[in-house]
Amino acid sequence: MKIAVLKETAAGETRVAASPETVKKYIALGASVSVESGAGLSASIGDADFEAAGAAIAHRDAVIKDADILLSVQGPDPKKMAGVKKGAWLAASLDPFGQRERVDAYAAMGIEALAMEFMPRITRAQSMDILSSQSNLAGYKAVIDAASTYGRAFPMMMTAAGTVSAAKAFIMGVGVAGLQAIATARRLGAQVSATDVRPETAEQIASLGAKAVFAEGLEASGTGGYAAELTDEQKAKQAELISAHISKQDIVITTALIPGRAAPRLVSDAQIATMKPGSVIFDLAVAQGGNVEGSEPDKLVEKHGVKIIGHSNTPAHMAADASALFSRNLFNFLNAFWDKEAVKPVLDAEIGDAIRLTQDGKIVNQRLLG
Ligand code: NAD
Repeated sequence: MKIAVLKETAAGETRVAASPETVKKYIALGASVSVESGAGLSASIGDADFEAAGAAIAHRDAVIKDADILLSVQGPDPKKMAGVKKGAWLAASLDPFGQRERVDAYAAMGIEALAMEFMPRITRAQSMDILSSQSNLAGYKAVIDAASTYGRAFPMMMTAAGTVSAAKAFIMGVGVAGLQAIATARRLGAQVSATDVRPETAEQIASLGAKAVFAEGLEASGTGGYAAELTDEQKAKQAELISAHISKQDIVITTALIPGRAAPRLVSDAQIATMKPGSVIFDLAVAQGGNVEGSEPDKLVEKHGVKIIGHSNTPAHMAADASALFSRNLFNFLNAFWDKEAVKPVLDAEIGDAIRLTQDGKIVNQRLLG
Protein backbone atom coordinates (compact mmCIF):
# COMPACT_ATOMS: atom_id res chain seq x y z
CA MET A 1 0.00 0.00 0.00
CA LYS A 2 1.43 3.38 -0.97
CA ILE A 3 0.63 6.41 1.18
CA ALA A 4 1.23 9.89 -0.24
CA VAL A 5 1.67 12.97 1.93
CA LEU A 6 0.85 16.15 0.02
CA LYS A 7 2.29 19.61 0.48
CA GLU A 8 -0.46 22.07 1.34
CA THR A 9 -1.21 24.72 -1.27
CA ALA A 10 -3.86 26.88 0.47
CA ALA A 11 -2.72 30.37 1.50
CA GLY A 12 -1.75 30.50 5.16
CA GLU A 13 -1.81 26.74 5.65
CA THR A 14 1.33 25.75 7.55
CA ARG A 15 0.39 22.27 8.73
CA VAL A 16 1.30 18.88 7.30
CA ALA A 17 -0.71 15.65 7.46
CA ALA A 18 2.09 13.32 8.56
CA SER A 19 5.03 13.48 10.93
CA PRO A 20 8.20 11.40 11.14
CA GLU A 21 6.50 9.52 13.98
CA THR A 22 3.46 8.54 11.90
CA VAL A 23 5.60 7.77 8.84
CA LYS A 24 7.47 5.19 10.93
CA LYS A 25 4.18 3.74 12.14
CA TYR A 26 2.76 3.42 8.60
CA ILE A 27 5.94 1.66 7.50
CA ALA A 28 5.68 -0.68 10.51
CA LEU A 29 2.19 -1.59 9.24
CA GLY A 30 3.72 -2.59 5.89
CA ALA A 31 2.98 0.57 3.85
CA SER A 32 5.40 2.63 1.81
CA VAL A 33 5.23 6.40 2.30
CA SER A 34 6.19 9.18 -0.10
CA VAL A 35 6.20 12.78 0.98
CA GLU A 36 6.04 15.73 -1.37
CA SER A 37 9.26 17.70 -1.12
CA GLY A 38 8.97 20.59 1.34
CA ALA A 39 5.64 19.37 2.78
CA GLY A 40 6.73 19.73 6.40
CA LEU A 41 8.93 22.83 6.23
CA SER A 42 6.41 25.30 7.65
CA ALA A 43 5.74 22.86 10.52
CA SER A 44 9.48 22.62 11.28
CA ILE A 45 9.87 19.17 9.69
CA GLY A 46 12.53 18.98 6.98
CA ASP A 47 12.63 16.54 4.09
CA ALA A 48 15.62 14.90 5.81
CA ASP A 49 13.49 14.21 8.92
CA PHE A 50 10.88 12.44 6.82
CA GLU A 51 13.60 10.57 4.94
CA ALA A 52 15.22 9.45 8.20
CA ALA A 53 11.82 8.07 9.24
CA GLY A 54 11.76 5.94 6.08
CA ALA A 55 9.75 8.06 3.62
CA ALA A 56 10.71 8.70 0.02
CA ILE A 57 10.81 12.39 -0.91
CA ALA A 58 9.58 13.29 -4.37
CA HIS A 59 7.86 15.93 -6.48
CA ARG A 60 4.08 16.13 -6.46
CA ASP A 61 3.38 14.12 -9.62
CA ALA A 62 5.55 11.23 -8.48
CA VAL A 63 4.03 11.27 -4.99
CA ILE A 64 0.46 11.19 -6.32
CA LYS A 65 1.06 8.59 -9.04
CA ASP A 66 0.22 5.05 -7.84
CA ALA A 67 -0.76 6.30 -4.35
CA ASP A 68 -3.51 4.26 -2.71
CA ILE A 69 -4.08 6.78 0.09
CA LEU A 70 -3.45 10.52 -0.15
CA LEU A 71 -3.08 12.42 3.12
CA SER A 72 -3.50 16.15 3.30
CA VAL A 73 -4.60 18.75 5.87
CA GLN A 74 -6.96 20.66 3.57
CA GLY A 75 -8.56 19.24 0.45
CA PRO A 76 -6.11 19.62 -2.45
CA ASP A 77 -7.04 21.56 -5.56
CA PRO A 78 -8.37 18.93 -8.01
CA LYS A 79 -6.39 20.66 -10.80
CA LYS A 80 -3.19 19.83 -8.92
CA MET A 81 -3.86 16.10 -8.65
CA ALA A 82 -2.84 14.96 -12.11
CA GLY A 83 -2.27 11.23 -12.42
CA VAL A 84 -4.22 10.24 -9.31
CA LYS A 85 -5.36 6.62 -9.39
CA LYS A 86 -9.09 5.83 -9.63
CA GLY A 87 -10.31 4.45 -6.33
CA ALA A 88 -7.52 6.13 -4.34
CA TRP A 89 -8.51 7.52 -0.96
CA LEU A 90 -8.10 11.13 0.01
CA ALA A 91 -8.24 11.66 3.79
CA ALA A 92 -8.24 15.33 4.83
CA SER A 93 -10.31 18.15 6.26
CA LEU A 94 -12.39 18.71 3.12
CA ASP A 95 -14.83 21.48 4.15
CA PRO A 96 -17.62 19.66 2.25
CA PHE A 97 -20.23 22.43 2.54
CA GLY A 98 -17.81 25.28 1.73
CA GLN A 99 -15.91 23.44 -1.03
CA ARG A 100 -18.73 21.59 -2.70
CA GLU A 101 -17.30 22.11 -6.21
CA ARG A 102 -14.12 20.36 -5.15
CA VAL A 103 -16.10 17.44 -3.77
CA ASP A 104 -17.88 17.14 -7.13
CA ALA A 105 -14.48 17.18 -8.86
CA TYR A 106 -13.17 14.42 -6.55
CA ALA A 107 -16.21 12.35 -7.50
CA ALA A 108 -15.56 12.96 -11.20
CA MET A 109 -11.94 11.82 -10.75
CA GLY A 110 -13.19 8.55 -9.27
CA ILE A 111 -11.38 8.97 -5.97
CA GLU A 112 -12.88 8.21 -2.56
CA ALA A 113 -12.86 11.46 -0.58
CA LEU A 114 -13.01 11.03 3.21
CA ALA A 115 -13.93 14.15 5.20
CA MET A 116 -12.18 13.77 8.52
CA GLU A 117 -14.26 16.57 10.08
CA PHE A 118 -17.36 14.37 9.62
CA MET A 119 -15.92 11.79 12.03
CA PRO A 120 -18.75 10.84 14.39
CA ARG A 121 -18.34 12.05 18.00
CA ILE A 122 -18.30 8.54 19.44
CA THR A 123 -15.95 7.24 22.10
CA ARG A 124 -13.96 4.91 19.84
CA ALA A 125 -13.36 7.70 17.31
CA GLN A 126 -12.06 10.26 19.81
CA SER A 127 -8.44 9.59 18.85
CA MET A 128 -9.32 10.17 15.15
CA ASP A 129 -11.16 13.45 15.74
CA ILE A 130 -9.39 16.32 13.96
CA LEU A 131 -12.01 18.85 15.10
CA SER A 132 -11.15 18.15 18.74
CA SER A 133 -7.38 18.09 18.35
CA GLN A 134 -7.30 21.31 16.35
CA SER A 135 -9.98 23.15 18.40
CA ASN A 136 -8.13 22.41 21.60
CA LEU A 137 -5.00 24.13 20.27
CA ALA A 138 -7.10 26.96 18.82
CA GLY A 139 -8.68 27.64 22.23
CA TYR A 140 -5.25 27.87 23.78
CA LYS A 141 -3.86 30.09 21.02
CA ALA A 142 -6.84 32.47 21.17
CA VAL A 143 -6.12 33.24 24.80
CA ILE A 144 -2.37 33.58 24.21
CA ASP A 145 -2.91 35.97 21.29
CA ALA A 146 -5.53 37.95 23.21
CA ALA A 147 -3.10 38.22 26.14
CA SER A 148 -0.31 39.47 23.91
CA THR A 149 -2.60 42.07 22.32
CA TYR A 150 -3.92 43.22 25.71
CA GLY A 151 -1.89 46.09 27.11
CA ARG A 152 -2.20 44.81 30.67
CA ALA A 153 -1.38 41.72 32.71
CA PHE A 154 -3.69 38.74 33.26
CA PRO A 155 -2.84 37.86 36.88
CA MET A 156 -3.28 40.08 39.89
CA MET A 157 0.13 41.34 40.95
CA MET A 158 0.94 42.99 44.26
CA THR A 159 4.14 44.92 43.76
CA ALA A 160 6.05 47.59 45.66
CA ALA A 161 4.77 50.07 43.10
CA GLY A 162 1.16 49.09 43.71
CA THR A 163 -1.36 46.44 42.76
CA VAL A 164 -2.27 45.34 39.24
CA SER A 165 -5.74 43.85 39.18
CA ALA A 166 -6.54 40.52 37.47
CA ALA A 167 -8.03 40.58 33.98
CA LYS A 168 -11.62 39.44 33.62
CA ALA A 169 -12.02 36.95 30.78
CA PHE A 170 -15.36 35.79 29.37
CA ILE A 171 -15.48 32.65 27.18
CA MET A 172 -18.56 32.30 24.97
CA GLY A 173 -19.18 28.78 23.69
CA VAL A 174 -17.81 25.97 25.81
CA GLY A 175 -17.04 23.12 23.40
CA VAL A 176 -13.51 21.78 22.99
CA ALA A 177 -11.96 25.19 22.17
CA GLY A 178 -13.89 26.99 24.90
CA LEU A 179 -12.88 24.52 27.60
CA GLN A 180 -9.21 24.93 26.66
CA ALA A 181 -9.64 28.72 26.56
CA ILE A 182 -11.06 28.64 30.10
CA ALA A 183 -8.20 26.46 31.33
CA THR A 184 -5.56 28.64 29.64
CA ALA A 185 -7.01 31.94 30.87
CA ARG A 186 -7.22 30.50 34.40
CA ARG A 187 -3.60 29.33 34.23
CA LEU A 188 -2.55 32.84 33.22
CA GLY A 189 -4.34 34.18 36.30
CA ALA A 190 -7.47 35.78 34.85
CA GLN A 191 -10.86 35.74 36.56
CA VAL A 192 -12.85 33.62 34.14
CA SER A 193 -16.55 33.32 33.38
CA ALA A 194 -18.18 31.40 30.54
CA THR A 195 -21.49 30.75 28.84
CA ASP A 196 -23.05 28.26 26.41
CA VAL A 197 -26.48 27.15 25.28
CA ARG A 198 -25.97 23.50 26.23
CA PRO A 199 -26.88 23.23 29.95
CA GLU A 200 -24.45 20.37 30.61
CA THR A 201 -21.54 22.78 30.10
CA ALA A 202 -22.35 24.61 33.38
CA GLU A 203 -20.82 21.76 35.37
CA GLN A 204 -17.77 21.63 33.05
CA ILE A 205 -17.22 25.37 33.48
CA ALA A 206 -17.42 25.05 37.28
CA SER A 207 -15.06 22.07 37.28
CA LEU A 208 -12.40 24.27 35.64
CA GLY A 209 -12.81 26.88 38.37
CA ALA A 210 -14.68 29.42 36.25
CA LYS A 211 -18.07 31.03 36.79
CA ALA A 212 -20.97 29.81 34.64
CA VAL A 213 -23.12 32.65 33.26
CA PHE A 214 -26.47 31.26 32.13
CA ALA A 215 -30.00 32.56 31.70
CA GLU A 216 -33.10 30.49 32.32
CA GLY A 217 -34.71 29.08 29.18
CA LEU A 218 -31.59 29.62 27.10
CA GLU A 219 -31.13 25.98 26.20
CA ALA A 220 -30.54 24.79 22.64
CA SER A 221 -29.01 21.33 22.49
CA GLY A 222 -28.93 19.78 19.03
CA THR A 223 -27.93 16.27 18.01
CA GLY A 224 -24.58 14.56 18.56
CA GLY A 225 -23.59 16.83 21.46
CA TYR A 226 -23.73 19.96 19.27
CA ALA A 227 -25.79 23.13 19.78
CA ALA A 228 -28.94 24.01 17.85
CA GLU A 229 -29.87 27.47 16.61
CA LEU A 230 -31.65 29.73 19.13
CA THR A 231 -35.20 30.94 18.51
CA ASP A 232 -35.67 34.70 18.10
CA GLU A 233 -37.00 34.88 21.66
CA GLN A 234 -33.94 33.04 22.97
CA LYS A 235 -31.65 35.29 20.93
CA ALA A 236 -33.19 38.34 22.63
CA LYS A 237 -32.70 36.70 26.03
CA GLN A 238 -29.07 35.91 25.23
CA ALA A 239 -28.45 39.48 24.05
CA GLU A 240 -29.78 40.71 27.40
CA LEU A 241 -27.49 38.33 29.29
CA ILE A 242 -24.44 39.37 27.28
CA SER A 243 -25.23 43.08 27.59
CA ALA A 244 -25.36 42.75 31.36
CA HIS A 245 -22.04 40.91 31.56
CA ILE A 246 -19.76 42.06 28.75
CA SER A 247 -19.19 45.66 29.84
CA LYS A 248 -17.24 44.39 32.85
CA GLN A 249 -14.96 42.14 30.79
CA ASP A 250 -11.39 42.83 29.63
CA ILE A 251 -11.00 39.77 27.41
CA VAL A 252 -13.75 38.03 25.45
CA ILE A 253 -13.11 34.78 23.53
CA THR A 254 -15.96 33.62 21.31
CA THR A 255 -16.03 30.05 19.96
CA ALA A 256 -19.72 29.41 19.15
CA LEU A 257 -20.51 27.24 16.14
CA ILE A 258 -23.56 25.40 14.87
CA PRO A 259 -22.83 22.50 12.46
CA GLY A 260 -23.61 23.27 8.81
CA ARG A 261 -24.64 26.89 9.49
CA ALA A 262 -23.02 30.29 9.72
CA ALA A 263 -21.66 31.06 13.19
CA PRO A 264 -24.27 32.63 15.49
CA ARG A 265 -23.85 36.37 16.12
CA LEU A 266 -23.23 36.80 19.85
CA VAL A 267 -21.70 40.25 20.29
CA SER A 268 -23.11 43.40 18.67
CA ASP A 269 -21.36 46.68 17.98
CA ALA A 270 -23.53 48.32 20.65
CA GLN A 271 -22.31 45.79 23.21
CA ILE A 272 -18.68 46.36 22.18
CA ALA A 273 -19.24 50.08 22.78
CA THR A 274 -19.97 49.35 26.46
CA MET A 275 -16.57 47.65 26.99
CA LYS A 276 -13.55 49.47 28.41
CA PRO A 277 -11.03 50.84 25.89
CA GLY A 278 -8.07 48.47 25.65
CA SER A 279 -10.23 45.37 26.04
CA VAL A 280 -9.61 42.55 23.54
CA ILE A 281 -12.04 40.24 21.77
CA PHE A 282 -10.79 37.11 19.99
CA ASP A 283 -13.39 35.73 17.54
CA LEU A 284 -12.52 32.09 16.93
CA ALA A 285 -15.53 31.76 14.62
CA VAL A 286 -14.34 34.56 12.31
CA ALA A 287 -13.82 32.17 9.37
CA GLN A 288 -17.37 30.83 9.71
CA GLY A 289 -18.93 34.30 9.53
CA GLY A 290 -17.98 35.50 13.01
CA ASN A 291 -19.60 35.64 16.44
CA VAL A 292 -18.68 39.30 16.76
CA GLU A 293 -20.01 42.20 14.71
CA GLY A 294 -17.14 43.79 12.79
CA SER A 295 -14.57 41.03 13.21
CA GLU A 296 -12.48 40.34 10.10
CA PRO A 297 -10.27 37.34 9.39
CA ASP A 298 -6.56 37.99 9.95
CA LYS A 299 -7.08 41.68 10.76
CA LEU A 300 -6.87 43.66 13.94
CA VAL A 301 -10.04 45.74 13.96
CA GLU A 302 -10.45 48.50 16.53
CA LYS A 303 -14.00 49.52 17.51
CA HIS A 304 -14.77 51.93 20.36
CA GLY A 305 -11.20 51.43 21.62
CA VAL A 306 -11.71 47.64 21.76
CA LYS A 307 -9.38 45.44 19.71
CA ILE A 308 -11.04 42.60 17.82
CA ILE A 309 -8.86 39.81 16.45
CA GLY A 310 -9.40 36.43 14.80
CA HIS A 311 -7.41 34.18 12.52
CA SER A 312 -8.93 32.51 9.48
CA ASN A 313 -6.98 29.37 10.43
CA THR A 314 -5.96 29.42 14.10
CA PRO A 315 -4.39 25.92 14.26
CA ALA A 316 -2.05 26.97 11.41
CA HIS A 317 -0.56 29.46 13.91
CA MET A 318 0.64 26.45 15.93
CA ALA A 319 1.94 24.45 12.98
CA ALA A 320 4.20 22.00 14.80
CA ASP A 321 1.78 20.82 17.48
CA ALA A 322 -1.25 21.05 15.20
CA SER A 323 0.53 18.90 12.58
CA ALA A 324 1.66 16.36 15.17
CA LEU A 325 -1.90 15.90 16.47
CA PHE A 326 -3.56 16.00 13.03
CA SER A 327 -1.07 13.38 11.81
CA ARG A 328 -1.82 11.13 14.79
CA ASN A 329 -5.58 11.50 14.15
CA LEU A 330 -5.05 10.26 10.59
CA PHE A 331 -2.82 7.43 11.71
CA ASN A 332 -5.24 6.34 14.46
CA PHE A 333 -8.02 6.30 11.86
CA LEU A 334 -6.15 4.24 9.25
CA ASN A 335 -4.63 1.95 11.87
CA ALA A 336 -8.05 1.14 13.35
CA PHE A 337 -9.21 -0.24 10.01
CA TRP A 338 -5.90 -1.57 8.67
CA ASP A 339 -6.21 -4.92 6.95
CA LYS A 340 -2.99 -6.49 5.67
CA GLU A 341 -4.84 -8.71 3.22
CA ALA A 342 -6.93 -5.92 1.65
CA VAL A 343 -5.85 -3.35 -0.93
CA LYS A 344 -6.85 -0.56 1.48
CA PRO A 345 -8.21 -0.42 5.03
CA VAL A 346 -11.81 -1.60 5.32
CA LEU A 347 -14.13 0.91 7.02
CA ASP A 348 -17.17 -0.11 9.01
CA ALA A 349 -20.55 1.48 8.23
CA GLU A 350 -20.77 3.74 11.31
CA ILE A 351 -17.57 5.61 10.48
CA GLY A 352 -17.38 4.92 6.73
CA ASP A 353 -20.86 6.22 5.95
CA ALA A 354 -20.27 9.30 8.11
CA ILE A 355 -17.02 10.44 6.50
CA ARG A 356 -17.14 9.08 2.92
CA LEU A 357 -18.18 11.83 0.50
CA THR A 358 -17.53 10.22 -2.87
CA GLN A 359 -17.28 6.68 -4.24
CA ASP A 360 -17.37 5.15 -7.73
CA GLY A 361 -17.80 8.57 -9.35
CA LYS A 362 -20.74 9.66 -7.19
CA ILE A 363 -21.49 11.75 -4.12
CA VAL A 364 -22.57 9.22 -1.49
CA ASN A 365 -22.73 11.18 1.78
CA GLN A 366 -26.21 11.71 3.25
CA ARG A 367 -25.29 15.14 4.66
CA LEU A 368 -24.48 16.31 1.13
CA LEU A 369 -27.35 14.51 -0.55
CA GLY A 370 -29.69 16.16 1.97
P1 NAD B 1 -18.64 23.44 18.34
O1 NAD B 1 -17.30 23.81 17.83
O2 NAD B 1 -19.65 22.93 17.38
O3 NAD B 1 -19.30 24.72 19.07
C1 NAD B 1 -18.59 25.39 20.09
C2 NAD B 1 -19.51 25.68 21.24
O4 NAD B 1 -20.39 26.76 20.92
C3 NAD B 1 -20.42 24.52 21.66
O5 NAD B 1 -20.21 24.23 23.02
C4 NAD B 1 -21.83 25.06 21.40
O6 NAD B 1 -22.77 24.54 22.32
C5 NAD B 1 -21.61 26.54 21.57
N1 NAD B 1 -22.65 27.40 21.00
C6 NAD B 1 -23.33 27.27 19.84
N2 NAD B 1 -24.22 28.26 19.69
C7 NAD B 1 -24.08 29.08 20.77
C8 NAD B 1 -24.71 30.28 21.18
N3 NAD B 1 -25.67 30.87 20.46
N4 NAD B 1 -24.30 30.83 22.35
C9 NAD B 1 -23.35 30.26 23.10
N5 NAD B 1 -22.72 29.12 22.77
C10 NAD B 1 -23.07 28.53 21.61
O7 NAD B 1 -18.49 22.42 19.55
P2 NAD B 1 -17.39 21.29 19.75
O8 NAD B 1 -16.21 21.87 20.39
O9 NAD B 1 -17.22 20.58 18.47
O10 NAD B 1 -18.10 20.36 20.83
C11 NAD B 1 -19.44 19.92 20.65
C12 NAD B 1 -19.72 18.75 21.61
O11 NAD B 1 -19.10 17.56 21.16
C13 NAD B 1 -19.24 18.95 23.02
O12 NAD B 1 -20.24 18.43 23.87
C14 NAD B 1 -18.01 18.11 23.10
O13 NAD B 1 -17.70 17.71 24.43
C15 NAD B 1 -18.43 16.95 22.26
N6 NAD B 1 -17.32 16.17 21.75
C16 NAD B 1 -17.38 14.80 21.80
C17 NAD B 1 -16.35 14.04 21.26
C18 NAD B 1 -16.40 12.54 21.28
O14 NAD B 1 -17.11 11.96 22.07
N7 NAD B 1 -15.67 11.87 20.38
C19 NAD B 1 -15.26 14.65 20.68
C20 NAD B 1 -15.23 16.04 20.65
C21 NAD B 1 -16.28 16.80 21.16
